[in-house]
Amino acid sequence: MQTLETDILILGAGGAGLFAAVHAKEANPDLDVTIAVKGLLGKCGCTRMVQGGYNVALSPGDSVERHFMDTIVGGSWLNDQDLAWLLVSTAPVRIRELENQLGCFFDRNPDGTVHQKAFAGQTFDRTVHKGDLTGIEIINRLAEQVWRRDVRRIEDHRALDLIPSADGSELAGVLMLDMRTGEPLMVRARATLLATGGGPTMYKYHTPSGDKSCDGVAMALRAGLPLRDIEMVQFHPTGLLAGEGTRMTGTVLEEGLRGSGGWLTDAAGERFMFDYDKRGERATRDIVSRSIMHRIRKGFASPNGGVYIEMGHLGPDRVRREFKGMVERCADCGFDLAAGRVEVIPTAHYMMGGVVFAPDCTTPLPGLYAAGEDTGGVHGANRLGGNGVANSTVFGGIAGDVMGARTVRGGAHPEPDRAAIEAARDRAFTPLGRTPGDLSAMRERLYDIMWNDVGILRDEEGLARGAAALDALARDIAACGVGDTSRSYNLTWMDRLNLENLTLVSRAIAAAADFRHNSRGAHFREDHPQPGDLAASTFTKVRLDGDRPQVTAEAVRHTRVRPGESLLDQTPSPAQDQHTTA
Ligand SMILES: Cc1cc2nc3c(=O)[nH]c(=O)nc-3n(C[C@H](O)[C@H](O)[C@H](O)COP(=O)(O)OP(=O)(O)OC[C@H]3O[C@@H](n4cnc5c(N)ncnc54)[C@H](O)[C@@H]3O)c2cc1C
Repeated sequence: MQTLETDILILGAGGAGLFAAVHAKEANPDLDVTIAVKGLLGKCGCTRMVQGGYNVALSPGDSVERHFMDTIVGGSWLNDQDLAWLLVSTAPVRIRELENQLGCFFDRNPDGTVHQKAFAGQTFDRTVHKGDLTGIEIINRLAEQVWRRDVRRIEDHRALDLIPSADGSELAGVLMLDMRTGEPLMVRARATLLATGGGPTMYKYHTPSGDKSCDGVAMALRAGLPLRDIEMVQFHPTGLLAGEGTRMTGTVLEEGLRGSGGWLTDAAGERFMFDYDKRGERATRDIVSRSIMHRIRKGFASPNGGVYIEMGHLGPDRVRREFKGMVERCADCGFDLAAGRVEVIPTAHYMMGGVVFAPDCTTPLPGLYAAGEDTGGVHGANRLGGNGVANSTVFGGIAGDVMGARTVRGGAHPEPDRAAIEAARDRAFTPLGRTPGDLSAMRERLYDIMWNDVGILRDEEGLARGAAALDALARDIAACGVGDTSRSYNLTWMDRLNLENLTLVSRAIAAAADFRHNSRGAHFREDHPQPGDLAASTFTKVRLDGDRPQVTAEAVRHTRVRPGESLLDQTPSPAQDQHTTA
């Protein structure tokens, strides 16, 4: 097997991975840094897809404390407060870095200050953006910075498994697969960053890029690492419903549409959100998604099973000007967003849960760091729109700083556990040449199980049914070969590997969702609709015991502010306001 040795290995080239590469090189230019990515650097992952923008307290009327309180209240008090504080306090540094060092141009006000727009669930308009396609600007500039530095790129390579050292004390590297040739590659590294970006693509309707299949989270589970709050899957309320058989269905129509005054209406033409929350369409994503599902269940579904978003009352010209990308996306599918109405459905968008990590991006496995959507704890039970790209760039940068400062060149790399390499290789290569199964049907099964039983509205009966169906699906996938023994660009094989990871992480989500007997943020139990005592909040921890996910709970430490208190002068926090919806 081919082997590569490097000082720092970064898995993933989204906001987290690219920032980590730039910062690691800045911290120590002599280090050998390798970035390995499943797609092409600069062209894959979800950071490139960021539409609405980036949350940051810049304006004189705003403050880091206000951003923090919005993040904690939005997260239903489940956040790791030290991580959340690091997010909001480092975001201003990162946004200046993006503009002044990396060359991003964000939209500006006539007086030259950075324009910040409204996003739902926030008490101040703090979302920095470039039109409504902000991620392209961020990723293009970041990719240029990585290209101009001496960073090794291995593209079209997927990480298969984390390989511990022979004595089990640390991570020795990662077994990768060169998707172009189908050959394995063992990358040995002194420090490795997990930044593969989560991605809940196991749901029938979903937004993330097609290269994302929870690979990093699945690898962490297989390596024995704990996941925090993995039951917390965010649904974006307004996924486009463009009909069956088009991949445009499920893609997101950005939050700014509701933020700027868009209406949600049902088949009867009723604007229904104020029946559920006093903030109407500007309620947080969890509340809006649940309200839509409730409306649909009550029999007010549009022809394709969703509801409508309407913008025409704001003036079609303004809508075309301010939401050019969204208007064009809808027009491509035959819909008039500016003057008409467009069918939408909640769509799985983001995973708040992920690998347990510390403020310096270390994980419980020495040698492994984590950042971005692969991690859990920053957002608690619900991520505010605009806090996702802030999370990946803030923590990716921190991971790069820390790995760059702590990694020392010279000396031998940790010796990898040969048995672990063989086991990982067997897992990935066994399906080749074995009798093929119907992978498309298995994928549809996964979509339906997760949408119907582990989705937006959950209860004990559905979760038990979902868990049993996922176990059966996992067995069927394990027995399913891919027939064709050609390894080169074998997309059926890649699909099979993706499905295996997605199903494993789905089982973890179902187990944690079953375990949590209250409703917080994105997790809503119809049989346990109350949030419970916020002061006694616990977060879930899932690990694999053999091949079964085991769940435990740990107390959330309210290190900076307790429920009912606020960091803002004399302002009581709306801690109890989060669960006003049915
Ligand atoms: C349509 C859409 C719109 C969004 N809009 C916003 C917004 O307006 N504001 C906001 O804050 N957030 C938004 N988000 C969320 C935001 O994109 C994410 O929070 C953030 O970009 C995640 O960054 P990341 O670096 O963790 O992962 P990503 O940017 O997704 O990068 C993951 C990388 O890992 C690679 N990878 C995956 N698996 C493997 C593997 N096995 N081996 C090697 N590499 C692998 C991928 O190819 C990719 O390069 C949006 C998301 C979507 C999908």
